[in-house]
Amino acid sequence: MNEKPKIAIFKFTGCAGCQLEFLHLEEIFLDILELFDISYWVMVKRDNDETGWDISLVEGGISTPEEIEEIKQIRMKTKFLVAFGDCAIGGCIPSIRNWTPQLDAESQVYRDTSVIQSTKVFGIGEYVKVDAILKGCPAHRDTIVELLKSALLEIRPRLRQHPVCVECKFRDNACLITSKKMACMGPVTSAGCGAICPSLGRECEGCFGPMSNPNTSALASIFKDLGFNEKDIKRKFRKYAGMSPEFRKEAGH
Ligand code: SF4
Ligand code: SF4
Ligand code: SF4
Repeated sequence: MNEKPKIAIFKFTGCAGCQLEFLHLEEIFLDILELFDISYWVMVKRDNDETGWDISLVEGGISTPEEIEEIKQIRMKTKFLVAFGDCAIGGCIPSIRNWTPQLDAESQVYRDTSVIQSTKVFGIGEYVKVDAILKGCPAHRDTIVELLKSALLEIRPRLRQHPVCVECKFRDNACLITSKKMACMGPVTSAGCGAICPSLGRECEGCFGPMSNPNTSALASIFKDLGFNEKDIKRKFRKYAGMSPEFRKEAGH
């Protein structure tokens, strides 16, 4: 590319943690500004250019009719659209409400629901074509850097597909399932975090979403053998990626 690639960063239904993760690239942030034109980012800029972008990073799931229209507009003006974090990929924690009847969920939050128009929470891929996904809650800084580097080289980003267990073994951890009978989601969860939680003695909660082709029924069966009931097991699979095709069955769809 002769000119700096134009980047946009958008927020839908999420907590802004993925955008903060981008800001946390502090030691290389000035380099990023040298190499890219961040032309749209409402969280950090007053003047934003809405004419079109080479890369759009979209944080958050889609949860209202207005957001459905907005994501379609963004897609039309974007060459390479990225689902930035688990909410944009599959709804993530906000999608937990999808298991509650819509009006019940709305009335738990709003006194007057007559002015509320919400939909079930889905990832952006439910409505538009997505070119890459950056997994994690929040998306991990290493994957953001990988995406930016590959954009400069004009190649596809290389993003991990193997499970957390691989990283856990690289760190020489004793397995929490076999040694402590803990319900660890590592065998079905995508790597990328460096197995932070098992390395600190905590089970993986699945915050990087499903790995490629996970055997979820085998893990659910192991959890059952460990003594977890059906409700607990469903909660495990619902927490971060219950709407994903990979986790939907064990999440109770
Ligand atoms: S993926 Fe996690 S950190 Fe990112 S917006 Fe959603 S809830 Fe926040
Ligand atoms: S502790 Fe969890 S992540 Fe580590 S090997 Fe066991 S199941 Fe996998
Ligand atoms: S170990 Fe699991 S829950 Fe912990 S950060 Fe990694 S993917 Fe997320």
